[in-house]
Amino acid sequence: MEEYPRYLTPDSETFDPVELAERTRKIVCRGDERKYTRFYATGVYGGIATGYTCGCCLRCVFCWVDRSRDFPEKLGSFYSPREAFERLSEAARSYGTRKLRISGAEPTLCKDHLIGLLDRVEDSEFGPFILETNGIPFGVDEDYVEKISEFDKPHVRVSLKAGTPEAFSRKTGAKPQFFEIPFKAIRNLLKHGVSFHVAGMMDDPRIVTSRERSELARRLKEIHPKLLRYFEGEVVDPYESTIKRLKASGFSLSWPLKESYPPLWKEYE
Ligand code: SF4
Repeated sequence: MEEYPRYLTPDSETFDPVELAERTRKIVCRGDERKYTRFYATGVYGGIATGYTCGCCLRCVFCWVDRSRDFPEKLGSFYSPREAFERLSEAARSYGTRKLRISGAEPTLCKDHLIGLLDRVEDSEFGPFILETNGIPFGVDEDYVEKISEFDKPHVRVSLKAGTPEAFSRKTGAKPQFFEIPFKAIRNLLKHGVSFHVAGMMDDPRIVTSRERSELARRLKEIHPKLLRYFEGEVVDPYESTIKRLKASGFSLSWPLKESYPPLWKEYE
């Protein structure tokens, strides 16, 4: 069996992210339990309790997630849906918020765990529940998206990593033919009426060309024109983990960022 992919380097072999998701599930999912490294509350989204998951099926060069992305077998502990809900509730109550999310690496990897957790959130005083994803699990499993649509509290944030198949491969380590999967996730979310918006590392000229942006805008408009208006652009932030990953993969960025691109809709709507 091929070595488990960790930090990308200029010599890294590209991988199949669906297969990597499966390999990672074997490490971070156990029945309806899932591995987390911690639970806390933070000021983003106006204050939100957060479960920090480990394990991902991409290897983005700008990723800020800690070492639990690359070494999920070494870090984190298993929590049942009930235990995760209790930890999230405690964090929310002590911060004084009702918003919850699971974040960190790829929060949707463990389907049974997530459905069990959403079941508890749905009947609770808490909500909304922000679900962050790279779109790979939701792109290949429409039934999963249909199950999510049965809940009222989740709002999904699909984070795209690039605007062309080549850039997707260079920045995530995945084979270029898998670039389409997150767009399939967007179609699935639309089809099943799930509340969601699209985000993406698209506003940073150090790592994104204008051709990539226009390609991405074209694709999003083709799916639904409103996707562009609510698109949340991201730029690379200088977290220690990000700087290490950029360096290991041979990307050289100058800091600080001098100017970001304007919002996607302003240029392409
Ligand atoms: S940025 Fe998100 S999708 Fe990319 S490697 Fe990190 S956790 Fe995974």
